[in-house]
Amino acid sequence: MQICAIKKMNMTKITVARGDGIGPEIMEVTLEILFAAGAKLQIDEIEVGEKVYLSGNTSGITKESWDVIRRNKIFLKAPITTPQGGGYKSLNVSTRKFLGLYSNVRPCMSLHPFVKTKHPIMDLVIIRENEEDLYAGIEHQQTDEVVQCLKLISRPGCEKIIRYAFEYAKQQKRKKVTCFTKDNIMKQTDGLFHKVFDEIAEEYPDIENEHWIVDIGAAKLADTPEAFDVIVMPNLYGDILSDVAAQITGSVGLAGSANIGEECAMFEAIHGSAPLIAGQNIANPSGLLQGAIMMLNHIGETAVAENIQNAWLKTIEDGIHTSDIFKEGISKKRVGTKEFAKAVIANLGLKPGLLNVVTYANSTSLHLPSYKRKPAAKKELLGVDLFVHWRGSHADELATFMHSMATSNLQLSMITNRGIKVYPDGFKETFCTDHWRCRFMSCDGQQISNGAIIELMSAALAIQIDIIKTENLYAFDGVKAYSLGQGQ
Ligand code: NAD
Repeated sequence: MQICAIKKMNMTKITVARGDGIGPEIMEVTLEILFAAGAKLQIDEIEVGEKVYLSGNTSGITKESWDVIRRNKIFLKAPITTPQGGGYKSLNVSTRKFLGLYSNVRPCMSLHPFVKTKHPIMDLVIIRENEEDLYAGIEHQQTDEVVQCLKLISRPGCEKIIRYAFEYAKQQKRKKVTCFTKDNIMKQTDGLFHKVFDEIAEEYPDIENEHWIVDIGAAKLADTPEAFDVIVMPNLYGDILSDVAAQITGSVGLAGSANIGEECAMFEAIHGSAPLIAGQNIANPSGLLQGAIMMLNHIGETAVAENIQNAWLKTIEDGIHTSDIFKEGISKKRVGTKEFAKAVIANLGLKPGLLNVVTYANSTSLHLPSYKRKPAAKKELLGVDLFVHWRGSHADELATFMHSMATSNLQLSMITNRGIKVYPDGFKETFCTDHWRCRFMSCDGQQISNGAIIELMSAALAIQIDIIKTENLYAFDGVKAYSLGQGQ
């Protein structure tokens, strides 16, 4: 009965979470603006974040709330506080991954001359991979001195996000897609991202493409953002650089973000819960409002989205500014969160005079083909890296133990410490920790069996070598699929 009534009124049912810190204040006024503009939304509210964490739920969300999010598929979320330490996992990261929200779209645009910025001509979109990379959050302490975090990059992950970036550029009539990676160092992980970028770029001959090493790319972005249009990046770089990009437009409080999956989507501000300014009516609600406008465009309420965006641009142009962007000589009136929202509502139906008036035509929702798994490659096991916890300090001494373990199939080829080769021919100057990687390769260069590795590990056990992990060394279709030691 209720569903019929909703359909009749053409309403979209969405899930809303008011979040923590400044979350409730900015969500309250964002919803006021959406309804004042006539958004046809029906809201299911859920509680997530700090209160749920502190009630003993380390995920920050209940099963019932997941059910609501999955049923409605569209989620407007205010920022939440992730308690530090204590085994709490970030609910933002879990939500993106549980719901398969692989694409994080973060537009950053300067509002010159109405918001002070060193970069008057800036209008770029960061498309951040949202599900993998170091944000897999798989971390371990392995020795007294060393902890590790696994960086996971998958072909489906790369293909989905990079295709999304090109399709987004095509839909939004943007001219160039840039890729940032660090594949000069991480040749396997970032190397795959870059390789897939080159492959997919070929399918879009009308869109310019380029690749930058992320460090100089980041420097260029902070210095000359007008050189970029759409930038696609692995998760960590995208997280960091979208904050930089938003901040250099004038304030991190100005940018919104869409997290898009094949079935569900979540919309939010890019900033956090800003606990120090919470409850004071001073937060800028623009980031969440921008997220909400992206949501309206996604669900096809483009006329409402257009009306709100033009009213917001006009408000910024009128110099009605919250404290984070208020500047004497540029701004006209310093206002609080609520007053800013009232000004946006008063401007509904009006358009900016100097800033570009926006027109939104169709839903921005993109329907990309699902990933199709490729045929399996020929996979050959060629050796193994044994990671060893050893408190000695001379690699040559460790090598003596390792040579004594060699089997008929596997022989020691190298030892590294934190990636740098220390045997054979190490430097005495190299600082070594208690975490050693001992590489054993097949004696004849031919494939070995898993049993050969077990034999090697038994030999290690017999002389009380503490093996903390192993990594198998493979070739796929005849191409060696592991990195060399540094200095090898
Ligand atoms: P933050 O973004 O909350 O704040 C950074 C700085 O920007 C602060 O000075 C803050 O006052 C200011 N700021 C942020 N939003 C503003 C706004 N709308 N108006 C005016 N000023 C604003 O980052 P943080 O301090 O590193 O993180 C605080 C908490 O938020 C942490 O618990 C973190 O885990 C969480 N967080 C949540 C999200 C999310 O929910 N998507 C994102 C980032 C951080």
